[in-house]
Amino acid sequence: MRAELLMIGTELLIGQIEDTNSTFMSRVLAEHGIHCYQKTTVGDNRDRINAALNAALERCDVVLCSGGLGPTEDDITRECVADVMGVRLEYHEELFEAIRRRFARIGRSVTGNNKKQALLPEGAEAIENPHGTAPGLWADTGRGFVVCMPGVPFELKPMLVERVIPRLREVFGMTGVLRYRVLKVCGVGESRIDAVMGDLINSQVNPTVGLLANPESVKIRIAAHGRDEDDARARIAPVEEEVRRRLPGLIMGAGEDTLEGVVCRLLRERHWTLAVGETGTGGMIAQRLTAAGSTAFAGGRVWPVEAGFPRDEETAIDLAGRLLLDCKADCALVLLYLPRKQRSSVVFRTPEGDHFREVGQYGTGARGQVRTSVWALEQVRRILAGETNAEPGEVPKPLDPR
Ligand code: ATP
Ligand code: MG
Repeated sequence: MRAELLMIGTELLIGQIEDTNSTFMSRVLAEHGIHCYQKTTVGDNRDRINAALNAALERCDVVLCSGGLGPTEDDITRECVADVMGVRLEYHEELFEAIRRRFARIGRSVTGNNKKQALLPEGAEAIENPHGTAPGLWADTGRGFVVCMPGVPFELKPMLVERVIPRLREVFGMTGVLRYRVLKVCGVGESRIDAVMGDLINSQVNPTVGLLANPESVKIRIAAHGRDEDDARARIAPVEEEVRRRLPGLIMGAGEDTLEGVVCRLLRERHWTLAVGETGTGGMIAQRLTAAGSTAFAGGRVWPVEAGFPRDEETAIDLAGRLLLDCKADCALVLLYLPRKQRSSVVFRTPEGDHFREVGQYGTGARGQVRTSVWALEQVRRILAGETNAEPGEVPKPLDPR
């Protein structure tokens, strides 16, 4: 089955609202193994919507539309579907009754223009909308299916997941499931991961392997089709093993894991608390640890970039020692930013010893703060996880335990 998305609404074209519906729709289609080949955005204009529908029907089996099903003048999606089918709109008393009942339940009365929402192109069916007044629309045009859903995300999402997808799978005789697993790597560039994973990414068919990078992490996505859940998971497992083998010690977590969550978990396992002193990140490490909601975070300090510290390890270790006392913590992380050396460094002090790491500086802008704080926390994670030499080609300098 080939699907396309048609996003309808002038407000999308002028940047008034963000098109979160299409992202959601794309994700759901991918999860169900439905191939989506194109996405079009069009304003509330009858000729252009008709042209977009006709063009999409030339290319694919199903056009999934969002928006323009409301009661107002600019909501013209129904009319356009009738146009491309070459039929008229029919009024359905039972749909109007359902709308009236819904309004009555919330203590409002229907207006004349709500009648519009009881119109359907001849031969089309309504899709029930338990979360709003506008029913969706399912039409077999003879050239392919057109499915229209309301633009309001709160209404569209359940309609797509609960009504439309099951029906599409049935109509197109789709069996099996698509499952994926996301592994996350922090503090390593996408190109370095690509260098050790490239052949997997290019050669794998089922499962497929893909990379998605942002300043937080590189996500490695392993996606498999299977007869059922177990079959899909069984296909993913050996590929995951191979990915882990190629990136020893570098997989921070999987799925919804966050770096700060993993760090806090590792700290709690040892009953350690952590104090943080940071330069150049504006307190972002403290912010992340706070967001993780863990009692493992003991507090800390935020220093300005030009704090006037002598910029060496000794100072950092002394600062760490002071933090331990000030915050009554078991461990201390000190992140120093060294503008002249063009590097950031961390000292991580634990009851078992001191560790020192350096990295080329990412800067103190918004992205730099994210990258530096992630890098620093990732060093903590690797040390706590016992990954002493995790990064390929970068040997950390060991320090004498004090
Ligand atoms: P309504 O019955 O509310 O008029 P509708 O089906 O006519 O619904 P639109 O009028 O196109 O849909 O959009 C209604 C609202 O839904 C928009 O103001 C916006 O808040 C939200 N919306 C529409 N399209 C999208 C989209 N692609 N992504 C996210 N939100 C959207
Ligand atoms: Mg509307």
